[in-house]
Amino acid sequence: MVLGILKEQNFNRVSIAPSATKKLTAMGIKPVIEHGAGEKSGFSDHLYVENGFATASREDILSKTDIVLSISPVADAEMHKMKKDAIYISMYAPYQNAEVVNHLASFPVNVVSMDMIPRTTLAQSMDILSSMASLAGYKAVLKAADHYNNMFPMMMTAAGTIPPTKVMILGAGVAGLQAIATAKRLGAVVEAFDTRAAAKEEVMSLGATFVEVEGAADDRGAGGYAVQQSDEYLARQRALVQERALKSNIVIATAQVRGRKAPLLITEDTINNMKPGSVIVDLAASTGGNCAYTENNKTIAKNGVIIIGNSDLADELNGVASTLYSNNILNFLQIVVKDGVATLNEENEIIKSALISKAK
Ligand code: NAD
Repeated sequence: MVLGILKEQNFNRVSIAPSATKKLTAMGIKPVIEHGAGEKSGFSDHLYVENGFATASREDILSKTDIVLSISPVADAEMHKMKKDAIYISMYAPYQNAEVVNHLASFPVNVVSMDMIPRTTLAQSMDILSSMASLAGYKAVLKAADHYNNMFPMMMTAAGTIPPTKVMILGAGVAGLQAIATAKRLGAVVEAFDTRAAAKEEVMSLGATFVEVEGAADDRGAGGYAVQQSDEYLARQRALVQERALKSNIVIATAQVRGRKAPLLITEDTINNMKPGSVIVDLAASTGGNCAYTENNKTIAKNGVIIIGNSDLADELNGVASTLYSNNILNFLQIVVKDGVATLNEENEIIKSALISKAK
């Protein structure tokens, strides 16, 4: 059983780290990596070879390996080069684009989408959305601190007392909770919004204040995800966000509802009244953003407020992001491959959920 690791075309990460050898060998898998695939993450070809990997051209990996790995999906022309019945593991986000599943059905390969791994305790070690979101939440705070013209902790000096920075977090999921922890460690005063009832305790356990908007829709049947809120609720929430934003210095926006456009929480009017020099990092940028002015993958300024739209900040921590992604993949492979044989057993809920297209 040969596992081929492709060089990423759109990311700085790599899907398997050199440290994976021992686990791969135990599963009966021989790893082959595309030349230069790990370079940006600090993993040279030499390091992979030292750890028992073979290196090969992209063409050879696409056409000769049994399991093909890449983080961002390859082009159709490259899918056509894969072996019949190969397993291709990537990230397709079909909950954002249902059409992609029909499209993939035309290729004679099995496609696994790592972002479809269920958010359950059993699958936690394979959950790439969580590992990447956690890094993004951390980096968002560092990014905001870097753009902010002040410091986070309260400081008493002979030259005067500096008050602590006020940080507001919108959405206390995986990224939001990591952002709270990071901002607290830097000495900020932190408050957070979320619509899920379960978030309140988690926010408070990190020492932040939970800002409650009464009347959120019941999310108990949504598998841990947030549900769409009514227009009336969102209008009330926007008013409260505005009230708090005018007192904040930093906003980390992470609020998302799976499969839908991100809720608009920071209006143009809010921005126009915020303190100049404030910084907003919008991690929901790729699904429309929580802030009215957000432009995906751009940093802009409005009324002196800096707005950073970036949903992929994990890619700026690519060393650790590659290692965590690699661990997630290894944990998934462990339920698929035994003694060098891969079986996509759909009686396993994790495999059933992640296998978005089957080879015909
Ligand atoms: P996400 O990226 O889909 O959304 C981020 C956060 O935004 C969520 O907490 C959501 O409730 C919140 N949100 C949505 N609309 C909002 C609004 N109008 N105002 C404020 N906040 C709003 O979420 P995620 O971080 O991917 O996590 C999704 C869920 O999965 C969470 O409940 C998380 O606890 C759960 N989870 C469970 C496991 C596990 O048990 N293994 C692992 C990871 C995540």
